[in-house]
Amino acid sequence: MIFNLQLTLHCNLNCTYCQATAEGSIFPPRVTYSLSTLKNFIEKDPDAVIAFYGGEPLLELSLMEQIMDSIKAKYFILQTNGLLLHKVPPNYLRRFHTILLSIDGREHITDLHRGRGTYKKVIKNARLLREKGFQGELIARMTVTEDTDIYPEVNWLLNLENPHFDSVHWQIDFMFNDRSLWKDLESWIFKKYNPQITRLIEDWVETMKKQSKVLKIYPFLGVLDRLIHEPSAKLHCGAGWIWQNICTNGIIAACPVGADFKEFHIGNIEDTHPLDTYNALHVSAPCTTCEIFGICGGRCLYANMFKPWGEDGYRLVCSTVFHLVKELRRVQGEIQALLHSGKLKKKDFEYFKYNCCEIIP
Ligand code: SF4
Ligand code: SF4
Repeated sequence: MIFNLQLTLHCNLNCTYCQATAEGSIFPPRVTYSLSTLKNFIEKDPDAVIAFYGGEPLLELSLMEQIMDSIKAKYFILQTNGLLLHKVPPNYLRRFHTILLSIDGREHITDLHRGRGTYKKVIKNARLLREKGFQGELIARMTVTEDTDIYPEVNWLLNLENPHFDSVHWQIDFMFNDRSLWKDLESWIFKKYNPQITRLIEDWVETMKKQSKVLKIYPFLGVLDRLIHEPSAKLHCGAGWIWQNICTNGIIAACPVGADFKEFHIGNIEDTHPLDTYNALHVSAPCTTCEIFGICGGRCLYANMFKPWGEDGYRLVCSTVFHLVKELRRVQGEIQALLHSGKLKKKDFEYFKYNCCEIIP
């Protein structure tokens, strides 16, 4: 299981798309459970992976270090806005399997939503990471909004040399906030986002052909994996079935976004066995009868349970998933031919599943 630990609800940024504040939460702002309770819970799972999350987890650097020093986990993952990365001692940095760094693309788009000067600070700290000996996977984790042109921003991040991002993932700001914050959602999807996804996929395949290289673009890798291998009616993000969020008071919830709702609660680290949280929650209609359920897996448990934009908004969001799947199906034959010819290897498409990349944006 992957356990996502919310080390704090406080954050040192105030991004426009994030409505999460410590004050507005039903949970305590800082961790109230003891280290021994957490250890006792996590170590009952021999394959446990720990992901640090917040708020901004590095505001609780000392707690993070204590957890890494005292609890056995298969891997450690860090998801951070990067502002405090320079404070993490090299011997801890080197122990991370994966670091997901929040950055939305070029400077103007990152600073537009995360605050002026953020891009420069994040880039500076990302450079330090490698200098300090971090050898794991560095993921550029984007939040995509109405201001985003996905094509140039993804290309920008993939082409950076210092820092070099091993991979890119993005999540669209769909259904977490009020729909009325989008000025023209339909135009953005059909005129901007979907056509640029097509261009990105075409470039992705061109790079495979010309350079025998598979760029690690998570939404493409995850969907292709299910197209080529077994379809699975499971959420790619893992929420509620293989990936659980530990809230600051020890409640286990399917994910941080829906943690304020009782329907999302699965147990408590005091008295729940970690393996009993496996397969606890799943999506329901309309996903369960959707023709691409086996590929999409349901996109988002929170959105599926609460339908914040209604049925209509749900369908509109799904049109991005249908487009992504259709375009990857269109190139699937070419990719499989490259695999059969030996130009590409199966391992070129492998990725660490449930590593906090939700796959379906
Ligand atoms: S495309 Fe939409 S309806 Fe279909 S499985 Fe995905 S989220 Fe559910
Ligand atoms: S995609 Fe998964 S992890 Fe993200 S908000 Fe939805 S349920 Fe939670």
